[in-house]
Amino acid sequence: MTESGVDEKSAAHEGVAETGGHQLASNSARRALDIVGDRWTLMILHLAFTSVRRFEDFQSRIGLARSLLTDRLRRMEKAGVVRRERYQDRPPRDEYVLTPMGIDLFGSALMIIRWEKRWFYDPDVIVHRLRHSCGKVFMPELHCATCDIEVVARDVTAVDGPGAGFEPPQKPRAQRRSTVARGELDPHQKMLERAIEVLGDRWTAQTIASAFGGTRRFNALQAVLGVAPNILAERLSRLVELGVLARRRYQDKPERFEYVLTPEGLDLFPLILELIRWGDRWLAGDAGPPQIIRHRPCGTVLKTRIICDQCGETVSVVSTSFDAVSDPPAR
Ligand SMILES: [Zn+2]
Ligand SMILES: [Zn+2]
Repeated sequence: MTESGVDEKSAAHEGVAETGGHQLASNSARRALDIVGDRWTLMILHLAFTSVRRFEDFQSRIGLARSLLTDRLRRMEKAGVVRRERYQDRPPRDEYVLTPMGIDLFGSALMIIRWEKRWFYDPDVIVHRLRHSCGKVFMPELHCATCDIEVVARDVTAVDGPGAGFEPPQKPRAQRRSTVARGELDPHQKMLERAIEVLGDRWTAQTIASAFGGTRRFNALQAVLGVAPNILAERLSRLVELGVLARRRYQDKPERFEYVLTPEGLDLFPLILELIRWGDRWLAGDAGPPQIIRHRPCGTVLKTRIICDQCGETVSVVSTSFDAVSDPPAR
C-alpha cells in the first residue's frame, strides 16, 4: 500500500493457481473497478449525480448508441447501483435512479473530480466548479475521521483482513477502446476526459489498483491481473503516456523494467481508498473486508471522511452543487 510497496511476494503467489483455474487475491478496489472501471459507466454515474435519470437524457448527453447505453444501464442495475422506476404508464417508460449503493459512489466521484481538478484544472469544465453548501467553490479532500489528517499513500498500511482469500477473475466483457476524437467531446465528456483515460478501461484501472498494492513488474502484473501480455504491454505504455506510471530500469542484463506510480499516479490514492471503502461495504459480503487498512499517524483502522477544503465540514451528495451549466461556446 505504501510507495515502497508490499513487495512482489503476493503477486508471485497469486500466479500459482491451486484449484485449477486462475485465481486472484480478493481485493475491494478490484471488485469495485469490475463494476465502475468502464468509460460509459463512469459517465452515466456522473450524470446521475447531476440528477439525470432518463434514458433519452443520458443518451443526448453522452451520445452513446442505444444498444450500448441499454447494456450499461442493465449492468449497473444488475450490480445494484441503479434501479428502474416507472414514470409513465402508456407507453411504459422507466427512469434510472441511484440506489443507496449507487449514491455511496459519490465519494469516488468526488475523488475523481479532485484528481482532475488538481492536475488538469480547466475553468471551462463544469465539475471543476463544484460548490459546497458553505457557498464556496471547493476542493474535496479525503481525511482520516480519527485524527483529521489528509490521507496520503505513505501514511497507510494494509494487512490481510477476515475476507482475505482468492477468487476467480471476472469474465472479460467485450470492450472496445473508444475512438472519440477529443474535439468532438461535449462538456460532460470533457469533464471526465482524464479520469476516463485512466479508469475507463478494465485493465488500466486494474493496473493502477495493483500498482498501489506494490505490484510493479510486468510478469507480476500479468499474474495478478490474469491479462494477456500484449494487452498488458499496450495498457502500460498508455499509462506511461498519460503520466501516471513511469518506466524504470531495475536490471541491466537482461534489461528489465518496472512501472512505478508518478506523483500524478500516487495522487489517485484517495480515489483507490474510496473504491476500497465502497467495495468493503457493498461487495465484501459476510466474509468481511479482504484487507484491514490502518492510518499510521494515529494508529487506528482507517475510517475516512471527505471534507471541503474551504470550511472543513464534511461533504455529502446533498451539500454540493455544480454551478449552472452553460452552453458550450459556439464553434
Ligand atoms: Zn488518522
Ligand atoms: Zn465548505
